[in-house]
Amino acid sequence: MSSLEDLPIRDDLRGQKPYGAPQLDVPVSLNVNENTHGIPEQVALTIVEKLAGAVVGLNRYPDREFVALREALAQFLGFGLHSSQIWAANGSNEILQQFFTAFGGPGKKALSFGPTYSMYPNIARITLTDYVEVPRPENFELSPEFVAQEIANNKPDIVLICAPNNPTGTAVELDTIRSAYSAMEGMLLVDEAYAEFSDGPSSLELLPDMERLVVSRTMSKAFAFAGARVGYLASSAAVVDAMRIVRLPYHLSALTQAAALAALEHSALMLANVELIKTQRDRIVGACRDWGLTPYPSDANFVLVGGFKNPEALFEALLAKGVLVRNVGIPGTLRITAGTEAETTKLLAEIALLLD
Ligand code: PMP
Repeated sequence: MSSLEDLPIRDDLRGQKPYGAPQLDVPVSLNVNENTHGIPEQVALTIVEKLAGAVVGLNRYPDREFVALREALAQFLGFGLHSSQIWAANGSNEILQQFFTAFGGPGKKALSFGPTYSMYPNIARITLTDYVEVPRPENFELSPEFVAQEIANNKPDIVLICAPNNPTGTAVELDTIRSAYSAMEGMLLVDEAYAEFSDGPSSLELLPDMERLVVSRTMSKAFAFAGARVGYLASSAAVVDAMRIVRLPYHLSALTQAAALAALEHSALMLANVELIKTQRDRIVGACRDWGLTPYPSDANFVLVGGFKNPEALFEALLAKGVLVRNVGIPGTLRITAGTEAETTKLLAEIALLLD
């Protein structure tokens, strides 16, 4: 046997390609919505100290219930949340996968509103869950009436709302979340991967009245910890019990738990650049508007910019100058992460030259 095609792989996976944005070694990497500011030295030192403490105990399995980390996450989130309502995994992608494993599967249907996060259909497919992506209205905004109507039309078991939405940056009002919740009997997951960049309220405040609501978060974006792979959710304790049933034992390594705990001790420092990033995001929006392009309003750390005649050519030309952005396949657009001030200056200077 020489290739994947020769293997007796699952029929529905035959011909599929692995998902992932290009990982290129370029000076200005603005394609996966990371926080491009490095970890402050003081935090790095605490992380190394905690890792050193964990290393000597690596002969033993880690705490399968990662109680200390869940307590720290509950405290970090606030909203009166208890650790029994918190669950964590290796990135919020794994949170999504565990969620689909528990609440999706054969005969179940998930609904979302596209364009939205491209892993939703992938995770649905891997877990054998039907997936429907209803197109958003032209401005990408979701009204309470629109989501209620589409839920009534499609009768999903799972609804996914990305707030703010990737790749459009669109904010979501809590009334829309309330409306989705009351329109369905299944599970509503609000993906708040970019919530820390938003000025709007979080769905976390709705949790006390909604036991089928799951709010997922990540340390990969605002928290500047993408390489550590830590995502988490807040929900009812019953939902956490469901996650426990589908997770693999000891899925969060002792090193991951130690590193995340150390970073959470310094949460203010880890989040210190959020305002700076928002300023750069607004700078990208302003410049693109001045050039006659159509940046969409963003509540996240990236901007979807429309109005490009040839986004493919611009993507390549920017890459040749050492600037990597993302073509998410929406005609006429590119999605650009807001980086440091220097990265944004370089990005905008190169775009200006190329538009000339
Ligand atoms: N949700 C959304 C909307 C995202 O954009 C991403 C990352 N691109 C994720 C979840 C997953 O991030 P992670 O697994 O790093 O937490």
